[in-house]
Amino acid sequence: MQITRRELLLGAAGSMLVLGAPALVRAQQLFRAYPFTLGVAAGDASADGFVLWTRLAPEPLEPHGGMPMAPIAVQWEVAADAGFKTIAAKGEALARPELGHSVHVEVAGLQPDRPYWYRFTCGRERSMRGRVKTLPGTGASVDKARFVVLGCQHYEQGLYTAYGHAAREDADFVFHYGDYIYEGRSAPVAFDYGGNPKKFIRAHVGEEPFSLDDYRRRYAQYKTDTDLQAAHAATGWYATFDDHEVQNNWVGDLDQNGTPPEAFLLRRAAAFQAWYEHMPVRSTSIPKGGAIQAYRRARMGDLLDLHLLDTRQFRTDQPCDDGFKPRCAGWDAADAQVLGSPQEAWLTRNLVEGRARWNAIAQQVMVMPLDRRTAGEPEPIRNMDSWGGYDRPRERLLRSFAGHGNVVVLTGDEHQNYAGELRTRGGQGDAVAVEFVSTSISSGGDGADLRAGSDKILAENPCLKYMNDRRGYLLCEVDREQWQARFRTVDTVSEADAPVKTARTATVVHGRPELSLS
Ligand code: FE
Ligand code: CA
Repeated sequence: MQITRRELLLGAAGSMLVLGAPALVRAQQLFRAYPFTLGVAAGDASADGFVLWTRLAPEPLEPHGGMPMAPIAVQWEVAADAGFKTIAAKGEALARPELGHSVHVEVAGLQPDRPYWYRFTCGRERSMRGRVKTLPGTGASVDKARFVVLGCQHYEQGLYTAYGHAAREDADFVFHYGDYIYEGRSAPVAFDYGGNPKKFIRAHVGEEPFSLDDYRRRYAQYKTDTDLQAAHAATGWYATFDDHEVQNNWVGDLDQNGTPPEAFLLRRAAAFQAWYEHMPVRSTSIPKGGAIQAYRRARMGDLLDLHLLDTRQFRTDQPCDDGFKPRCAGWDAADAQVLGSPQEAWLTRNLVEGRARWNAIAQQVMVMPLDRRTAGEPEPIRNMDSWGGYDRPRERLLRSFAGHGNVVVLTGDEHQNYAGELRTRGGQGDAVAVEFVSTSISSGGDGADLRAGSDKILAENPCLKYMNDRRGYLLCEVDREQWQARFRTVDTVSEADAPVKTARTATVVHGRPELSLS
């Protein structure tokens, strides 16, 4: 039997571990396979830095990513140029087994409002290169921002073609509204909304995740996609989570199966840890006691405040037993919460005290309380897992938007594009903001320009101006006078290489919470 020099070294490293010799193992002795299989990422940029992320996983679908149970030193570099001629910062971080051998580096001390390039090295191995921009300084005069809004990336339901296009948009940043993974077990043969069987695309590995290792494997599988890796490497992200990072339509300590809360919270804690391990977020988001601090703000000079919300963790149970339902008693319950009091007070204070030209509310579930009737049902129907099921919290939210004339809500979850005006009093009152609901990267499959029944929804909801059922993302270009949102779509995610196009452009003029479409 031939033993390669690498295997010999690996064996030597292994026996060192057994003997309890140096806990910190030198990487060049370790990797039989490339360790940066999950790519790189950056995020949560500030004016002087950002978070850099990678995770060592030479065998991404194996337990612990194929890593030895020891901390591994990883070197990182930040350069002022794509060729790494001028190094602006560098250092060493530990990839710890406690955190799935993920690496989170919080880089500080950089220049504001400029791009940087970064990479990781571990022994003889080097990661791909990523690019990320620092924010303009607080209060700095800023004329323009260009960013992408996306999420909902069911791996089995479509290729990540839209991610490949998003990577080429030259965006200052990406806002991800969640559903980065889906927790379902492998069920690749599915049907479209018309009941027709869909083409096989690709399958989840494994059962529905419950343990930390299960969730780690699910993230690892998703992150091996090279279009997703390209979208991370292209720019910095602000990542949030929605329901499928844990389980469909969970809120607070409740899942949708009636699991005892104390049991569900253990699963949620595992899912939160895996989310932290795989996202380029700051150490303030390391889960503590089973909870996670995810709501936060990013400020683009004097142009734009980005308020990133958590609409799952502090929410009260969906009324009417969840789903798309006619009115029930809980619809306007006095004690209903979506954000919870502390987050709601934080957001209201941000809006009152903020001086930015625009406020972007970066969140997950639709705020417009749309009547979802498509087939002549007698009573209005709402999506109880959206703000439409929470009348009082929604009206409070809209009151906090009133008078600003500069609030734009950015939403996901629906797997369709929508654009509309947010009007008080259940849609009957004044418009106080606009809402853009971005479609999905892949969830739902190919789709159509308009889903069956959507003409009725458009007719019954005067606040709603646009619907579209293609996969893709939202590209926002914001200047001091107007906000343009381009619905960027691909015609197929079941065949590779679909081109991207702008299905529609919506424009908001500063000071006027209304939409025009072109
Ligand atoms: Fe989704
Ligand atoms: Ca969702």
